[in-house]
Amino acid sequence: GLGLTGALVYSIYELRHPVEQADPDPEKKTLVILGTGWGSVSLLKKLDTENYNVVVISPRNYFLFTPLLPSCTTGLIEHRSIMEPIRNVLRQKKASVKFYEAEATKIDYEKRVVYISDDSEIKGDISQTEVPFDMLVIGVGAENATFGIPGVKENSCFLKEVNDAQKIRKRIMDCVETAMFKDQSDDEVKRLLHMVVVGGGPTGVEFAGELQDFFNDDLKKWIPEIQDNFHVTLVEALPNVLPMFSKQLIDYTESTFKEESISIRTKTMVKNVTDKSIEAEITNPDGSKTLETIPYGLLVWATGNAVRPVIRDLMGQIPAQKDSRRGLAVNEYLVVNGAENVWAVGDCAITNYAPTAQVAGQEGAFLARLFNTMAKTDEIEKELTKLSDQQALCKTDEERNQTFDEIRERQKQLRRTKQIGPFQYSHQGSLAYIGKERAVADISWLSGNIASGGTLTYLFWRSAYLSMCFSSRNRVLVAMDWVKARVFGRDVSR
Ligand code: NAD
Repeated sequence: GLGLTGALVYSIYELRHPVEQADPDPEKKTLVILGTGWGSVSLLKKLDTENYNVVVISPRNYFLFTPLLPSCTTGLIEHRSIMEPIRNVLRQKKASVKFYEAEATKIDYEKRVVYISDDSEIKGDISQTEVPFDMLVIGVGAENATFGIPGVKENSCFLKEVNDAQKIRKRIMDCVETAMFKDQSDDEVKRLLHMVVVGGGPTGVEFAGELQDFFNDDLKKWIPEIQDNFHVTLVEALPNVLPMFSKQLIDYTESTFKEESISIRTKTMVKNVTDKSIEAEITNPDGSKTLETIPYGLLVWATGNAVRPVIRDLMGQIPAQKDSRRGLAVNEYLVVNGAENVWAVGDCAITNYAPTAQVAGQEGAFLARLFNTMAKTDEIEKELTKLSDQQALCKTDEERNQTFDEIRERQKQLRRTKQIGPFQYSHQGSLAYIGKERAVADISWLSGNIASGGTLTYLFWRSAYLSMCFSSRNRVLVAMDWVKARVFGRDVSR
């Protein structure tokens, strides 16, 4: 009886823990991948995992489709629609991959180990440990730049992760409901309903557009009292927003914002932040400078990327990284300069390209190709050694010639496999949503340099994002969110 129950229990256990429990193969190298963003996940998707003992480490057990994150701040899209569980990616791999939900706190290059720490609220017996590697891919991204400006960290919302979007969503409604509170003064109502976005890059522009949409489509219909005071301001230090787009698209964006009554304050550099206002230095047309205090209810800070401490620490361990400031300097094969068997992808690596999802995705795919090829090369080299041993033992000329031919064939194969060129980025175009069902796009591959803006571009933007969405599950969820918001309006509960 026990035997049967035991067998049953064991087979259920087997079902629930398939190859997951397999021990690392001592014959294979251990490949550790840090991060579950665009770079690391596109590597994972294309990697032949049976060639290595693959270990993935990330504090986030999901991939996040970041281009649609601004839509989560207004409830147009629910955040779970743009998350894809990493376990879902891993279970589709041929050989098992280990995943540890943890943050890499330190990389010791000399010792070839990564120190990891799990800040889970549920305390297990171990929350800190080390993971040794033979090969390491670093795809940990960047953190939000604050340029050491006082008050930014304490008072503003960023827009990088799911919880940032959730915080903004709550904060918008908190501002609106507090402004509606009994006996609130006019000035306080104005302040609470002033939504300030700092940084006129694509992140800031897309968020400002989404927020104004939210007001136009839903908020002003449901809470008409806020009509006269709800206001979005975009603050940018440079003379114009979206510097990576052409003059024509910048003008289109600026005129759309004007129609929507979003204020753009260019040549305005934020120098200090308090809990209720920002202090900015304005460069006047005659070149003189004035300081202005701008009160806000919600402050969203989108001024680009800064290097993460774990990366800065690693750069300190490698002399060749001494002169690098913005991240890990890599060569044309994405190998970290001055390090062996360490690669970097995405926003933590410094290449000649902008730190975008598109670049990170292509870098990850390139590394997958490189690693798959390296494994193949190893295999052929092993066969070659075997063949030359065999050749020495050959007795007849005929045997010897046959082995010789085989060796020649393998050598040819080896040369062909080794011919993997350096990483080359192929730009598919830039696309940014600017609100009012309009988008700007710079699509270079459509013959020459076509720049386009407007509603058609918006439709293209929507379908492009839908087809880029990670899985068909995500695609369905996002499409349903769009329909839901059209039919019922966005959900304004806090
Ligand atoms: P960004 O670096 O592109 O723009 C930040 C802006 O903030 C700059 O224009 C800068 O002048 C301004 N700024 C900095 N400090 C300031 C201050 N103190 N006061 C006022 N303004 C200040 O940052 P981002 O928009 O977060 O984008 C980061 C990267 O991600 C970029 O490479 C971008 O291309 C990419 N991205 C692309 C898309 C898209 O293609 N749709 C969307 C989001 C992000």
